[in-house]
Amino acid sequence: DTATAVDTDVVVIGGGQAGLAAAFHLQRVGYRADRDFVVLDHSPRPGGAWQFRWPSLTYGKVHGMHALPGMELSGADPGRPSSEVIGAYFESYEQTFGLSVHRPVSVLAVRAGAGGRLLVESSEGRYATRALINATGTWDRPFWPRFPGQETFGGRQLHSSRYEGAEQFRGARVVVVGGGTSAVQQLLEIAPVAAATTWVTRRPPVFRDGPFGEEEGRAAVALVEERVRQGLPPQSVVSVTGLPMTDAIRQARESGVLERLPLFERITPTGVVWADGRRVAADVILYATGFRAAIDHLAPLKLREPGGGIRMDGTRTLRDPRVHLVGYGPSASTIGANRAGRAAVHDIRRLLAPAPGPAP
Ligand code: FAD
Repeated sequence: DTATAVDTDVVVIGGGQAGLAAAFHLQRVGYRADRDFVVLDHSPRPGGAWQFRWPSLTYGKVHGMHALPGMELSGADPGRPSSEVIGAYFESYEQTFGLSVHRPVSVLAVRAGAGGRLLVESSEGRYATRALINATGTWDRPFWPRFPGQETFGGRQLHSSRYEGAEQFRGARVVVVGGGTSAVQQLLEIAPVAAATTWVTRRPPVFRDGPFGEEEGRAAVALVEERVRQGLPPQSVVSVTGLPMTDAIRQARESGVLERLPLFERITPTGVVWADGRRVAADVILYATGFRAAIDHLAPLKLREPGGGIRMDGTRTLRDPRVHLVGYGPSASTIGANRAGRAAVHDIRRLLAPAPGPAP
């Protein structure tokens, strides 16, 4: 059945930071878009997951967005939503470099094909490829923790990825679950308009004073890298870096908004209950509990270890050297995604040598 598939050297799945960085480097070493490689992305517009981020996440509030390789992102208004700023930047990036991302195209499955090829099944047909760069991020797999009684709750439950701004919480009693940046940013926005807020985290949050240094960044990435080397599921890089202390956070702490409670034990029709009998009434439970890698389409390749993770050497999976994961685990940041894109291309180039096009 490989016969009916379009032949190519590399399929890149995902057109976010990681996928575009990979496409840029493929082109740079001589692979041509729509001949030697193809980029498939199921989002409606350029921007990767950024296009879906809530409007109040302005460009000024993101932690530090690294530009894509080869083109600066300059002069952006910090008050504009990051979804618009980065969406427009990615769009002009794709045009400038002629990356011709196919969208909206969903990859449904990747399997072993005939003749040493990988068969990529997508909504626009099949590709038989010699190598694969998976850059599908995490946005499509929001993580919902499970609690006894969750299904009996009479109010509204939503994940932070569906947050659209504080207005939808006006007058409500809101329980926010999660200890990351999204939890804190959304809690700070909701608190002034809500009737009451309760913040619940698994571990006591760690606030970090001062900017996050490069040294600490490397140490955080190394921690996640070590987990991946051991075949364990990666943690998010942000989960090991702590929360940056800002003026808004300092004020919220003084006002009591950031007084945190440990995880409750169960959910009732009207609120949440702790093991010691404490109860909080709630109209809304907001889960700012992060994401998992969106890689279900790779299941037929059986890349997972018994520990649940995918063991990797750099960006290459140990179980299939044709398959690279970029923006996964240790490279799940804008700077990590850039580096991973380049590393994957260098590795694939060696695998597929001799590469088409001129040598640099
Ligand atoms: P994405 O941007 O998620 O792109 C993946 C693309 O793949 C999407 O377009 C998606 O539609 C597509 N896709 C997924 N599955 C399929 C499929 N089966 N078939 C076809 N296409 C598919 N990092 C920073 O460095 N700085 C920050 O300030 C920062 N802020 C963040 C804020 C939030 C709220 C979140 C959730 C993350 C933040 N991050 C930040 C981390 C950020 O996710 C990464 O830095 C980076 O943008 C991820 O890029 P990516 O290309 O790996 O994934």
